[in-house]
Amino acid sequence: MSWRATVLTLFPEMFPGSLGMSLAGRALERGDWSLEARQIRDFGTGRHRNVDDTPFGGGAGMVMRPDVVDAAIEAAMQGGDDRPLLYMTPRGRPLQQALVRDLASGPGAVILCGRYEGLDQRVIEARNMVEVSVGDYVLSGGEPAALVLLDACVRLLPGVMGASESGEEESFSPNGGGTLLEYPHYTRPAEWNGRRVPDVLLSGHHAEVARWRAAQSAAATQERRPDLWAKQTGFAAAAHAAHV
Ligand code: SAM
Repeated sequence: MSWRATVLTLFPEMFPGSLGMSLAGRALERGDWSLEARQIRDFGTGRHRNVDDTPFGGGAGMVMRPDVVDAAIEAAMQGGDDRPLLYMTPRGRPLQQALVRDLASGPGAVILCGRYEGLDQRVIEARNMVEVSVGDYVLSGGEPAALVLLDACVRLLPGVMGASESGEEESFSPNGGGTLLEYPHYTRPAEWNGRRVPDVLLSGHHAEVARWRAAQSAAATQERRPDLWAKQTGFAAAAHAAHV
């Protein structure tokens, strides 16, 4: 069975959006994965199908009701669904390539998109949701975050990327236990506006190209992402200690 994504949202018309195009879109057409966007409001209460209410304890904004969200989840996951249930939220664990790889190797995902101030905490706990953030900033809704997560997962599904676009050698791919940023890329023309491509890339010497790329990768990580670099050197030190 192909990888299955279900998105629970107040704006199902935002899907497939960018996922209907390019690599992900072609894979969707081929049936390598499937996407269903379900309207949470169908489970709203009263004549106006309300999905939110004012926060206990006061304060600005509205909160999505636990009973409404729970009913939407129940309808989407009925019959013992084994897919993880994710809630996109700035309070969640930061989305990283390791989690993307885990999700892509599983059966799919059910993704809840919040609006307003977010979900009532009780339904998050009762449903054991995995809370995931796409970064330290606040979006107006979980939909763009779900599109980001799905894009990252779908490109890793078998057959989605061609051999020429392999995801094995790119930023955040496992690298001696840690992760590094990728090296810079160059293409024709070899000289452009007075800027030359580094000579080593024109040399045809594969081992030297590989050494240059590894050094560039390390330098970029050290300079731009000291947090990743510290992990990388920590892994290297631990591996060295284990061998002496
Ligand atoms: N009151 C929340 C807070 O301060 O943490 C922000 C709510 S935000 C306006 C509405 C919804 O957008 C959230 O429930 C969540 O689903 C989504 N969202 C906003 N920023 C996000 C992020 N960085 N990562 C994932 N989802 C996000």
